[in-house]
Amino acid sequence: MVDSRLLHEQLSRKVEELWQEELEFLKTMIRFPSLSGKEHRLQLFLADYLTTKLKLQVDRFTPAIQQIEKHPGFSPPKWTYEYSDIVIGTHKGINPSEGKTLIFQGHADVVSAEPATEWDSSPWEPLEKDGRLYGRGSADMKGGIAAMIFAYRAIIECGYVPKNDFMIQVVPDEERTGNGALAALEAGYTADAALIPEPFGLQASVGQVGALWFEISLRTIKKDDYKQTQTNVIEKLHTITSSLMAFERYLNQTRSHLAFSDQDNPIDLNIGKVTAGDFASNEPVHATIEGRVALLPGEQISERKQELLDWIKQETKNDMWFKENPPTIEFYGFHAEGTLSDDTSPLFQELDAAHERVTKTKPTRRTLPSTTDARHFQLYYDIDTICYGPVGGQFHEVNEWVDLNSIKDVTKVYATFLANWCGVEKK
Ligand SMILES: [Zn+2]
Repeated sequence: MVDSRLLHEQLSRKVEELWQEELEFLKTMIRFPSLSGKEHRLQLFLADYLTTKLKLQVDRFTPAIQQIEKHPGFSPPKWTYEYSDIVIGTHKGINPSEGKTLIFQGHADVVSAEPATEWDSSPWEPLEKDGRLYGRGSADMKGGIAAMIFAYRAIIECGYVPKNDFMIQVVPDEERTGNGALAALEAGYTADAALIPEPFGLQASVGQVGALWFEISLRTIKKDDYKQTQTNVIEKLHTITSSLMAFERYLNQTRSHLAFSDQDNPIDLNIGKVTAGDFASNEPVHATIEGRVALLPGEQISERKQELLDWIKQETKNDMWFKENPPTIEFYGFHAEGTLSDDTSPLFQELDAAHERVTKTKPTRRTLPSTTDARHFQLYYDIDTICYGPVGGQFHEVNEWVDLNSIKDVTKVYATFLANWCGVEKK
């Protein structure tokens, strides 16, 4: 029987010893511009690392659409997964009668760094300054991936092995669909519990909203016969954007959820991309608006879709131009439901205990105004899952940063948590 206080102290010392290496490892990861759909090179590096340094049994494959497209958690992509590898490293438990199985899961992809010229330094060359590390993906979520990998390294380098199965999963396309996580689970890579190192400031998440992506297309099908001149579709974009904003207000006025009562507008609607025209002297015939709308836990994807279709129809029905040129709405990318967690579960208790040991502070909770891969584990596989990771800021924006001390703390928390959850013994 390993003394848990002693074990914790050993692991924490080992994390300190390995810290410079962990920092260099994180910087190396940031230098791979692993945008969604371009995770391949980073994943090759990680697959090699898990094999050679962690001695895990590694599987690497790309998500196969035909294996997940009928799944309720599937989000339809408009892109292929040719360069989007999933990497899974497995340790087979040596004494599975005690302890429980565990997955540490992180996403390899990062969002666009544009406009890159607005950054104070290159988004792909990590910059260390005042205890922070700047770079695209430093917080979301390469800092967390470094922590989960070095937590396991601390365990094996202290001479311990987990008694139960332990897995590191690094998945692609989390930022657009979550299909990487889904494909890994559908391939049979499951466990009793999972931890996702999203950078939420050492606070365990207890709920998250869902997200649905949409694209509204305007097209001049019929030229105006009620006017001398043709209407430019760009002029009509305004009708759609303002009706989307009204839709967001309507949703937040008519829906609420106790878990999200601390947030002003939990059902966020974001207009993220508008395109129209290609030449100053031409009149465009086509324009698109792409966006994302949230769902509270319990709300259905199909209902939100219908509400948006009905809303746009209603808002444009008295407009002569829209009558002859009805907009079309397509749904692609995120089809993510919201979820809630029971924070009294054994998983939360074990993580809370590790958090208190390392930080000497009481654990706190938060709800997320965004979606994460946790939903797949919770909703479709009944796997208790926590998002808990380092402190960071400017996610998805310019000058993204992560707090380095918090990564070290999180690495210690993960190591102690992993050792206690799976159980360990001396090799
Ligand atoms: Zn993330």
